[in-house]
Amino acid sequence: MSDSIALMTEGLHKSYGRVVALRGVDLEVRQGEIFGFLGPNGAGKTTTIRCLLDLIRPDSGTLRVLGMDPQADPVGVRARTGYLPGELNLDANLRVREVLRYFSQLRGAKMDWSQVPRLAQRLDLDLETPVKNLSKGNKQKVGVVQALMPQADLLLLDEPTSGLDPLMQQQVHRMLREACAGGATVFFSSHIISEVEALAEHVAIIRDGRIVEVAEPGRLVAMTLRRLHIRFQQPVDVAPLARIEGVSLVGAADRNGMHVTVQVEGEVDRLIKALAAFPVRDLETEHPSLEEVFLAYYQTGKAAGQEDH
Ligand code: ATP
Repeated sequence: MSDSIALMTEGLHKSYGRVVALRGVDLEVRQGEIFGFLGPNGAGKTTTIRCLLDLIRPDSGTLRVLGMDPQADPVGVRARTGYLPGELNLDANLRVREVLRYFSQLRGAKMDWSQVPRLAQRLDLDLETPVKNLSKGNKQKVGVVQALMPQADLLLLDEPTSGLDPLMQQQVHRMLREACAGGATVFFSSHIISEVEALAEHVAIIRDGRIVEVAEPGRLVAMTLRRLHIRFQQPVDVAPLARIEGVSLVGAADRNGMHVTVQVEGEVDRLIKALAAFPVRDLETEHPSLEEVFLAYYQTGKAAGQEDH
């Protein structure tokens, strides 16, 4: 394996009884990059990440993490990795500071505690709060701090911004970019296209236990599917909107032509320019779930991988 590869999986298979979670997952993540692992619920993201840390064993396949085989040297892999699980169990009887002390002691003498107050402050997390009083978002912040505090070579993050408000999501994105600028490799899972687009240098898309695409995030724009609810100041004929490439009317416009819902594939630029000629009162955007996007995208046979062949 080349020195510049931080992690690699080849032909990873995993079943839980009769449930097949992974059907041959191949991944390659370069050192020092931010890599997004995008997929809808149940696609196999968490299972893959757990295999990388040898928290569960795949049925077959090869794994390399920072040059090590996690099954042969799980302690070596975990010592150099910051891990944010999808669901972090915290002792409700402790305060945030005590929980983080506990995690840092597990890391041994090498952990630099001075990172902790700095990270907590950036996330607006009070170290003296009892864990039992934490909201879901604040629990997530504890998870982010414990993953970042060892300044590890590799960050394996299972939905790092889950439950955080948009400003805090941005803050976490900044912190991950900084970790990456400091030399760390970041591998994070998400089911939100826009997040992966904003943060990752490369993205692997997993669906139903298979990698369906590895791409640069710029290609995700073409996959973006939005629904726009447009309200007009007076009745209009919306037929011209439906003739714009990539735009389709969803259901009929209401009877007096005051409101229409359209679906847009890819960039919205053409629609927005066309709307300048209409008396628009209000515009609302809705992002369908990733699974809905996949259905629309793959059913129309426009997968980016297919365009190239
Ligand atoms: P999410 O975004 O919902 O966390 P995911 O992409 O992380 O989903 P996994 O949690 O890896 O997906 O799950 C993959 C498949 O394996 C799903 O069908 C899930 O129901 C199943 N699965 C995961 N863990 C177990 C388990 N411990 N026992 C049985 N089935 C499991």
